[in-house]
Amino acid sequence: MAQKRVLVIEDSPETQQLLAELVLEPNGYRPIAALDGEEGLRLALEEHPDLIILDMQLPKMSGIEVLEALRQRDVDIPVIFATVRESLELVVQAFRLGARDYVIKPFGPQEMQEAIQRAFATARVNEEREQLTQQLQRQLQELNAVYAIGRSVTSLLDLNRVLNRVVEAAVYVADAEEGMLLLLDNESGELYLRAAKNVDEKVVRSLRVRTDDSAAGRALRTDRAVLLTGKQAKVATGYLVKALLYLPLRVPERGVIGVLGVANRESERSFSERDIFLLSALADYAAIAIENARLFETVEIERAKLEAVLREAQEVIIVVDKDNNILLCNTAARATLDLIEADLLRRPIGEAIPHPALREMFAQVCETGQAAHNEVSLKDGRTFNAQLTPVEGVGWVLMMQDITHLKELDRVKSEFVATVSHDLRTPLTTIQGYIELLPRVGPLNAQQQEFIHRAHESMEAITELIGDLLDIGRIEAGFDLEMVPCDLRQIIEDAVRELRPRAGRKRQELRWQPPETLPLVQGNPLRLRQVVDNLLNNAVKYTQEDGWITVSAVEDEGHVVVHVADNGIGIRQAQQPYVFDRFYRVESDETADIKGTGLGLAIVKAVIEKHNGRVWVESRPGGGSVFSFVLPALRT
Ligand code: ADP
Repeated sequence: MAQKRVLVIEDSPETQQLLAELVLEPNGYRPIAALDGEEGLRLALEEHPDLIILDMQLPKMSGIEVLEALRQRDVDIPVIFATVRESLELVVQAFRLGARDYVIKPFGPQEMQEAIQRAFATARVNEEREQLTQQLQRQLQELNAVYAIGRSVTSLLDLNRVLNRVVEAAVYVADAEEGMLLLLDNESGELYLRAAKNVDEKVVRSLRVRTDDSAAGRALRTDRAVLLTGKQAKVATGYLVKALLYLPLRVPERGVIGVLGVANRESERSFSERDIFLLSALADYAAIAIENARLFETVEIERAKLEAVLREAQEVIIVVDKDNNILLCNTAARATLDLIEADLLRRPIGEAIPHPALREMFAQVCETGQAAHNEVSLKDGRTFNAQLTPVEGVGWVLMMQDITHLKELDRVKSEFVATVSHDLRTPLTTIQGYIELLPRVGPLNAQQQEFIHRAHESMEAITELIGDLLDIGRIEAGFDLEMVPCDLRQIIEDAVRELRPRAGRKRQELRWQPPETLPLVQGNPLRLRQVVDNLLNNAVKYTQEDGWITVSAVEDEGHVVVHVADNGIGIRQAQQPYVFDRFYRVESDETADIKGTGLGLAIVKAVIEKHNGRVWVESRPGGGSVFSFVLPALRT
């Protein structure tokens, strides 16, 4: 250990000598003498001794002034001051200025020696404490660095920045000269440099490391830290370093995807267990960040694909949030609906779309919360099938397909059916006439009569079918729909009266309690009668013997609502949406023997819709059915 130097600032040469010979030298300290305050201060600053023994009364500068000067210059050398009298004030002042101890003059060698030992001991303790504090401070900073990286991994989406930070932090916490992060290229099986700190430009550009014979590769293959020092490091890395530490980057489920490394090229300093520990945490963070970025990228690619598909789809697609603000509006939507505004995003749909029918649909779904479906005609003559469907967690999506072509086909088909039906009528009437004439031209045996009966029945069925076909064609085309104020009470009354005998034959109870008053509706009496007839006929047809049928009509908020209820065979939920379609018949054991064309309810729907009304069914298999329609009441 270097000899400790003690500066004695004392104007008495005798005391100087005494201290040097009796106290300092025998204890292995080297004395430096100053005979006045000024010289003492100069030597203190120049020589930087380990201890100062300072007399209080000195020529040129007093002991207190020397202390003050040292204090001002931030010189932190332990001071023992010597004073002739025990002045409390002076002692306090000296201590305030940083003196460590004091002795009263005259002092004995033993006394001074003890004071010196105390001062050095205190200094040592202080120094150790200082070192410890610095060490703790450093560890705290390292942990802070690691923690900060952890935080940025979760908050930063920019992978480059995260990885550069990780490498920077690794260099800092391991007190290394260089740092690098290498990732595995799955195709070539090599490791390539993804982020680096203080690594040579040339190395950065060319660094690709094979995994089978490199230290980095070993860390990757073994999933363990690899620490190399001295010659070992030179040989193993190909490029010259004195110490090297590689840690694996581990991703759950995918295994090790790369390595984080630090190296010392100049310094001989190796890396410690603690470095391994801290760098492992950093490696984990880097791995999480890489995995997050990969997942994010995958999701982003999928999202972009989906967006492209939606954007380029032929169908009109508009997505709105729960408050009906536009989230997506594809090219077809813009072109079809003439949406010329550049920026439609976040705009309320009601403002952005000028089509009343569509606006109404959006308003309707907002109110009901249920999907809606409609046919929408545009000014250019095209017809679209529009569905508005809820999307969980998003809002609503409007999809529209151009069905102009289908509509045209449907029209042509209806026209064809109407023409054929019409043309069939004449020969059918002739056939029927001759069938009816047959019994009159001569006696028929039982078998002949049976055959004629069957032919007659089939004729009736085919005539009914043709009648229905012609009807539906006419109704949909809007013919025969001269509207007058109609009394539905009377219409139902007549229909019920006419049907009673049929219901009676099946011993069914047919109930009709007419309301005291019922507003008139604007309609075609023949067609409305047809609606009631069809519903009542069905009720009788699809209800067993001894069942009941109840007809009611009520006024409800400016509308007339008619219900035809029965306790018949009912309709399964899955089939209910189709019963109003043309030619749809429920096929089951119960309906097998019941004749029909499948057009009755299609006629009902067509008529009611031409009257601006709505028809629907509620039913339960085995529990009966309720068919209802609603028409706007005529204002009186
Ligand atoms: P159909 O000529 O077959 O009666 P509709 O169009 O009148 O044709 O009815 C379509 C189908 O709806 C019927 O085939 C029948 O299965 C079902 N249906 C209609 N009314 C009732 C009812 N009141 N009870 C049970 N099923 C019914």
